Amino acid sequence: MALSDFERYPLTFGPSPIHRLDRLTEHLGGAQIWAKREDVNSGLAFGGNKTRKLEYIVPDILASGADTLVSIGGYQSNHTRQVAAVAAKLGLKARLVQEKWVDWPDAVNDKVGNILLSRLMGADVSLSPEGFDIGIRSSWKEALAEVEAEGGVPYPIPAGASEHKFGGLGFANWAYEVQQQEQELGVFFDTIIVCTVTGSTHAGMIAGFAGQDQPRQVLGIDASATLEKTREQVARIARNTAELIDLGRELRDEEINVLEGWAGDLYGIPVESTVDAMRLSAQTEGMIIDPVYEGKSMAGLIDLVNSGRIDKNSNVLYAHLGGQPALNAYSGII
Ligand SMILES: *Cc1c(COP(=O)(O)O)cnc(C)c1O
Repeated sequence: MALSDFERYPLTFGPSPIHRLDRLTEHLGGAQIWAKREDVNSGLAFGGNKTRKLEYIVPDILASGADTLVSIGGYQSNHTRQVAAVAAKLGLKARLVQEKWVDWPDAVNDKVGNILLSRLMGADVSLSPEGFDIGIRSSWKEALAEVEAEGGVPYPIPAGASEHKFGGLGFANWAYEVQQQEQELGVFFDTIIVCTVTGSTHAGMIAGFAGQDQPRQVLGIDASATLEKTREQVARIARNTAELIDLGRELRDEEINVLEGWAGDLYGIPVESTVDAMRLSAQTEGMIIDPVYEGKSMAGLIDLVNSGRIDKNSNVLYAHLGGQPALNAYSGII
């Protein structure tokens, strides 16, 4: 099947906007920097990259006859907030397992930001003491069993919607959306910067761009701090997605680039370069990025431009994947 043969349930406003980051470009004095804004892609509870992935999953949800979406993430998961919004929009229930993925000393970490929004949207939120892991979790399987025991029909959505069979399609389509917007803008982005943790955002992009004539580098900046797991997961999902959309060839290892150096030691804990990147983005562009994901990918972009690893003549597209609601749980860093 070609990508266009997969059904897409509209949850976004349409193509997300692309714009120049002029003052950031001037400050860095290197490549031309642009952003594509998934943080404003939808009217559903602030949207973000998971909303785009879910567009390709909703048809399967509706076909399954499920009445409850079951998903998992950290206390400040953007993903579970977006699942709660989609459940509300579809008139379904949401059962969310929120694990203690981040040991962050903020008294309201389990009360404000994303988790507050999920509760507001009527999700059944349960807190669990388990630590960070991007894989399939037992607490999530238990939640599925509980919904069944209560007579409900659960629909499982794994962490970040990444391990779902259609998890990579949303961002494979993003690659074609970029190609279309490039024609309108008269620019070619030779370098894409994207934050990667559970992997299907980066993986989808790799599969989507691989089907286009003009080659470009898609650089994933690891924010998981469990690099090997994320690398393996990105490669696996990229290859599965490429097969699903009939790419017609194997992805080469050099097409899969997950870069390390900006995650710090732990998922969810900002380091100095994260906070510096957040301030720079806010103070040059008024563009707000979070301390868990985008602050780390922006720190990567800044260093790659400063070090010349990204060429001065490059046009760089920074994928802003959302995530600002988590900022409320990190007031101490600013
Ligand atoms: C989930 C998320 C990411 C990481 O995307 P994956 O598909 O899990 O790799 C990056 N940024 C934000 C804001 C996110 O919510």
